[in-house]
Amino acid sequence: MSQSFQIAIDGPVAAGKGTISRLLAQKLGFLYVDTGAMYRATALLALRQEIDLSDEDKVVALLDQSKLEMRNPLPPKEIDGRLTTVILDGEDVSWAIRTQKCGEGASKVAVLAKLRKVLVKKQQEIASSQDVVMEGRDITFRVLPDADIKIFLTASIQARAARRHTQYLIKGVDISIEEVIKEIAERDQRDMQREADPLHVVDDAWSIDTSNLNIEEVVDLIANRVQEIKNQK
Ligand code: C5P
Repeated sequence: MSQSFQIAIDGPVAAGKGTISRLLAQKLGFLYVDTGAMYRATALLALRQEIDLSDEDKVVALLDQSKLEMRNPLPPKEIDGRLTTVILDGEDVSWAIRTQKCGEGASKVAVLAKLRKVLVKKQQEIASSQDVVMEGRDITFRVLPDADIKIFLTASIQARAARRHTQYLIKGVDISIEEVIKEIAERDQRDMQREADPLHVVDDAWSIDTSNLNIEEVVDLIANRVQEIKNQK
Protein backbone atom coordinates (compact mmCIF):
# COMPACT_ATOMS: atom_id res chain seq x y z
CA MET A 1 0.00 0.00 0.00
CA SER A 2 1.14 3.56 -0.74
CA GLN A 3 2.76 5.72 1.94
CA SER A 4 0.39 8.57 1.15
CA PHE A 5 -3.16 8.83 2.48
CA GLN A 6 -5.58 8.43 -0.41
CA ILE A 7 -9.21 9.47 -0.49
CA ALA A 8 -10.89 8.22 -3.67
CA ILE A 9 -14.20 9.75 -4.70
CA ASP A 10 -16.39 8.73 -7.64
CA GLY A 11 -19.85 9.73 -8.67
CA PRO A 12 -21.99 10.95 -11.56
CA VAL A 13 -21.89 14.43 -13.05
CA ALA A 14 -22.92 17.30 -10.74
CA ALA A 15 -23.15 15.18 -7.56
CA GLY A 16 -21.07 17.80 -5.74
CA LYS A 17 -17.75 15.93 -6.02
CA GLY A 18 -15.67 18.99 -6.95
CA THR A 19 -16.80 21.37 -4.23
CA ILE A 20 -16.84 18.69 -1.55
CA SER A 21 -13.41 17.33 -2.52
CA ARG A 22 -11.87 20.83 -2.64
CA LEU A 23 -13.16 21.77 0.82
CA LEU A 24 -12.22 18.40 2.27
CA ALA A 25 -8.67 18.70 0.87
CA GLN A 26 -8.38 22.20 2.30
CA LYS A 27 -9.57 21.04 5.71
CA LEU A 28 -7.13 18.11 5.80
CA GLY A 29 -4.19 19.87 4.10
CA PHE A 30 -4.28 17.34 1.22
CA LEU A 31 -3.87 17.96 -2.51
CA TYR A 32 -7.15 18.09 -4.41
CA VAL A 33 -7.01 16.33 -7.78
CA ASP A 34 -9.86 16.92 -10.20
CA THR A 35 -9.33 14.16 -12.77
CA GLY A 36 -12.28 15.39 -14.87
CA ALA A 37 -10.19 18.51 -15.57
CA MET A 38 -7.66 16.28 -17.35
CA TYR A 39 -10.35 14.86 -19.67
CA ARG A 40 -11.69 18.39 -20.20
CA ALA A 41 -8.22 19.75 -21.04
CA THR A 42 -7.76 16.92 -23.56
CA ALA A 43 -11.11 17.78 -25.13
CA LEU A 44 -10.12 21.46 -25.30
CA LEU A 45 -6.92 20.54 -27.12
CA ALA A 46 -8.79 18.38 -29.63
CA LEU A 47 -11.56 20.94 -30.18
CA ARG A 48 -9.05 23.74 -30.77
CA GLN A 49 -7.10 21.60 -33.26
CA GLU A 50 -10.38 20.45 -34.84
CA ILE A 51 -9.44 16.82 -34.31
CA ASP A 52 -12.20 14.21 -34.38
CA LEU A 53 -12.91 13.39 -30.71
CA SER A 54 -13.27 9.71 -31.57
CA ASP A 55 -9.85 9.47 -33.26
CA GLU A 56 -8.04 7.70 -30.44
CA ASP A 57 -4.49 7.82 -31.82
CA LYS A 58 -4.68 11.49 -32.76
CA VAL A 59 -6.18 12.52 -29.42
CA VAL A 60 -3.53 10.60 -27.45
CA ALA A 61 -0.72 12.03 -29.65
CA LEU A 62 -2.05 15.53 -29.08
CA LEU A 63 -1.98 15.04 -25.31
CA ASP A 64 1.52 13.54 -25.47
CA GLN A 65 2.81 16.64 -27.23
CA SER A 66 1.28 18.99 -24.65
CA LYS A 67 2.23 19.93 -21.13
CA LEU A 68 -0.61 19.68 -18.64
CA GLU A 69 -0.08 21.00 -15.11
CA MET A 70 -2.54 21.13 -12.21
CA ARG A 71 -2.25 22.80 -8.83
CA ASN A 72 -4.27 24.29 -6.00
CA PRO A 73 -5.23 27.90 -6.98
CA LEU A 74 -2.56 30.43 -5.98
CA PRO A 75 -3.55 33.67 -4.24
CA PRO A 76 -4.42 36.35 -5.08
CA LYS A 77 -4.94 36.06 -8.86
CA GLU A 78 -6.29 32.53 -8.98
CA ILE A 79 -8.73 32.89 -6.11
CA ASP A 80 -11.70 33.62 -8.35
CA GLY A 81 -14.12 30.81 -7.55
CA ARG A 82 -12.25 28.09 -9.42
CA LEU A 83 -11.64 24.78 -7.62
CA THR A 84 -8.36 23.98 -9.30
CA THR A 85 -5.86 25.65 -11.60
CA VAL A 86 -5.14 23.96 -14.92
CA ILE A 87 -2.23 25.10 -17.08
CA LEU A 88 -2.03 23.81 -20.63
CA ASP A 89 1.17 24.60 -22.52
CA GLY A 90 1.71 27.59 -20.26
CA GLU A 91 -1.84 28.96 -20.70
CA ASP A 92 -4.25 29.14 -17.77
CA VAL A 93 -7.27 27.22 -19.08
CA SER A 94 -8.99 26.75 -15.71
CA TRP A 95 -12.11 28.52 -16.97
CA ALA A 96 -11.83 27.65 -20.65
CA ILE A 97 -12.32 23.96 -19.83
CA ARG A 98 -15.55 24.64 -17.89
CA THR A 99 -17.75 25.33 -20.92
CA GLN A 100 -20.62 23.04 -21.81
CA LYS A 101 -18.80 22.16 -25.05
CA CYS A 102 -15.70 21.01 -23.16
CA GLY A 103 -17.79 19.02 -20.69
CA GLU A 104 -19.49 17.22 -23.54
CA GLY A 105 -16.18 16.79 -25.34
CA ALA A 106 -14.60 15.38 -22.17
CA SER A 107 -17.32 12.78 -21.86
CA LYS A 108 -16.69 11.79 -25.50
CA VAL A 109 -12.88 11.46 -25.25
CA ALA A 110 -13.37 9.61 -21.94
CA VAL A 111 -14.59 6.54 -23.86
CA LEU A 112 -11.15 6.16 -25.51
CA ALA A 113 -9.34 3.30 -23.74
CA LYS A 114 -5.83 4.41 -24.76
CA LEU A 115 -6.41 7.92 -23.46
CA ARG A 116 -7.75 6.56 -20.16
CA LYS A 117 -4.59 4.49 -19.75
CA VAL A 118 -2.36 7.55 -20.16
CA LEU A 119 -4.38 9.70 -17.77
CA VAL A 120 -4.76 6.95 -15.14
CA LYS A 121 -0.96 6.56 -15.05
CA LYS A 122 -0.50 10.31 -14.52
CA GLN A 123 -3.09 10.26 -11.73
CA GLN A 124 -1.45 7.28 -9.99
CA GLU A 125 1.91 9.06 -10.09
CA ILE A 126 0.43 12.15 -8.46
CA ALA A 127 -1.20 10.11 -5.68
CA SER A 128 1.84 7.98 -4.92
CA SER A 129 3.88 10.76 -3.31
CA GLN A 130 1.37 12.98 -1.54
CA ASP A 131 -1.87 12.83 0.44
CA VAL A 132 -4.75 13.35 -1.98
CA VAL A 133 -8.45 13.77 -2.34
CA MET A 134 -8.89 12.53 -5.90
CA GLU A 135 -12.25 12.60 -7.61
CA GLY A 136 -13.58 11.32 -10.92
CA ARG A 137 -15.39 8.33 -12.41
CA ASP A 138 -12.89 5.49 -12.01
CA ILE A 139 -10.84 6.44 -8.97
CA THR A 140 -12.22 3.86 -6.51
CA PHE A 141 -11.66 0.88 -8.80
CA ARG A 142 -9.06 1.75 -11.44
CA VAL A 143 -6.84 4.65 -10.36
CA LEU A 144 -6.62 4.00 -6.60
CA PRO A 145 -8.16 0.56 -5.90
CA ASP A 146 -6.23 0.40 -2.58
CA ALA A 147 -7.26 3.86 -1.39
CA ASP A 148 -7.62 4.33 2.38
CA ILE A 149 -11.20 5.42 1.88
CA LYS A 150 -13.51 5.01 -1.10
CA ILE A 151 -16.60 7.12 -1.53
CA PHE A 152 -19.42 7.15 -4.06
CA LEU A 153 -21.13 10.54 -4.03
CA THR A 154 -24.49 10.75 -5.69
CA ALA A 155 -27.73 12.76 -5.76
CA SER A 156 -31.04 12.63 -7.59
CA ILE A 157 -31.01 13.78 -11.22
CA GLN A 158 -33.29 16.69 -10.24
CA ALA A 159 -30.87 17.89 -7.55
CA ARG A 160 -27.89 17.49 -9.85
CA ALA A 161 -29.59 19.31 -12.74
CA ALA A 162 -30.65 22.17 -10.45
CA ARG A 163 -27.03 22.60 -9.26
CA ARG A 164 -25.57 22.50 -12.76
CA HIS A 165 -28.28 24.89 -14.02
CA THR A 166 -27.35 27.43 -11.32
CA GLN A 167 -23.66 27.11 -12.28
CA TYR A 168 -24.52 27.80 -15.93
CA LEU A 169 -26.69 30.81 -15.03
CA ILE A 170 -23.89 32.30 -12.89
CA LYS A 171 -21.59 31.98 -15.89
CA GLY A 172 -24.19 33.71 -18.11
CA VAL A 173 -25.06 30.57 -20.10
CA ASP A 174 -28.63 30.72 -21.34
CA ILE A 175 -29.95 27.17 -20.96
CA SER A 176 -33.22 25.68 -19.72
CA ILE A 177 -33.47 23.16 -16.87
CA GLU A 178 -34.91 20.63 -19.36
CA GLU A 179 -31.80 20.95 -21.53
CA VAL A 180 -29.58 20.46 -18.47
CA ILE A 181 -31.49 17.31 -17.45
CA LYS A 182 -31.06 15.96 -20.98
CA GLU A 183 -27.33 16.75 -20.97
CA ILE A 184 -26.82 15.09 -17.58
CA ALA A 185 -28.80 12.00 -18.57
CA GLU A 186 -26.71 11.63 -21.74
CA ARG A 187 -23.45 12.02 -19.84
CA ASP A 188 -24.59 9.50 -17.18
CA GLN A 189 -25.37 7.04 -19.92
CA ARG A 190 -21.97 7.48 -21.61
CA ASP A 191 -20.13 7.19 -18.27
CA MET A 192 -21.99 4.10 -17.10
CA GLN A 193 -22.21 2.23 -20.36
CA ARG A 194 -18.80 2.78 -21.89
CA GLU A 195 -16.70 -0.30 -22.48
CA ALA A 196 -13.54 1.01 -20.80
CA ASP A 197 -14.02 1.28 -17.03
CA PRO A 198 -17.67 2.22 -16.78
CA LEU A 199 -18.67 4.20 -13.68
CA HIS A 200 -20.04 1.88 -10.97
CA VAL A 201 -20.21 1.53 -7.20
CA VAL A 202 -17.57 -0.79 -5.75
CA ASP A 203 -18.49 -3.16 -2.90
CA ASP A 204 -16.34 -1.43 -0.30
CA ALA A 205 -17.39 2.12 -1.21
CA TRP A 206 -19.23 4.35 1.21
CA SER A 207 -22.25 5.69 -0.72
CA ILE A 208 -23.39 9.18 0.23
CA ASP A 209 -26.53 10.72 -1.28
CA THR A 210 -26.02 14.49 -1.22
CA SER A 211 -29.53 15.44 -2.45
CA ASN A 212 -30.65 16.62 0.98
CA LEU A 213 -27.33 17.36 2.68
CA ASN A 214 -25.45 20.62 2.62
CA ILE A 215 -21.82 20.68 1.56
CA GLU A 216 -20.38 21.36 5.03
CA GLU A 217 -22.26 18.37 6.46
CA VAL A 218 -20.79 16.05 3.86
CA VAL A 219 -17.26 17.46 4.32
CA ASP A 220 -17.46 17.04 8.12
CA LEU A 221 -18.86 13.51 7.76
CA ILE A 222 -15.92 12.43 5.59
CA ALA A 223 -13.28 14.34 7.62
CA ASN A 224 -14.44 12.57 10.81
CA ARG A 225 -14.23 9.20 9.13
CA VAL A 226 -10.70 10.01 7.86
CA GLN A 227 -9.65 10.87 11.41
CA GLU A 228 -11.02 7.53 12.67
CA ILE A 229 -9.10 5.62 9.99
CA LYS A 230 -5.91 7.57 10.71
CA ASN A 231 -6.23 6.74 14.43
CA GLN A 232 -6.51 3.03 13.60
CA LYS A 233 -3.42 3.07 11.35
O1 C5P B 1 -16.06 15.71 -13.57
P1 C5P B 1 -16.25 16.40 -14.89
O2 C5P B 1 -17.69 16.61 -15.26
O3 C5P B 1 -15.44 17.64 -15.02
O4 C5P B 1 -15.66 15.36 -15.95
C1 C5P B 1 -15.81 15.55 -17.34
C2 C5P B 1 -15.99 14.20 -18.01
O5 C5P B 1 -14.78 13.46 -17.94
C3 C5P B 1 -17.03 13.30 -17.35
O6 C5P B 1 -18.31 13.50 -17.89
C4 C5P B 1 -16.54 11.90 -17.62
O7 C5P B 1 -17.06 11.43 -18.83
C5 C5P B 1 -15.04 12.07 -17.78
N1 C5P B 1 -14.28 11.54 -16.64
C6 C5P B 1 -13.93 10.21 -16.65
N2 C5P B 1 -13.14 9.70 -15.65
C7 C5P B 1 -12.69 10.48 -14.67
C8 C5P B 1 -13.06 11.85 -14.63
C9 C5P B 1 -13.87 12.35 -15.63
O8 C5P B 1 -14.34 9.47 -17.53
N3 C5P B 1 -11.89 9.96 -13.73
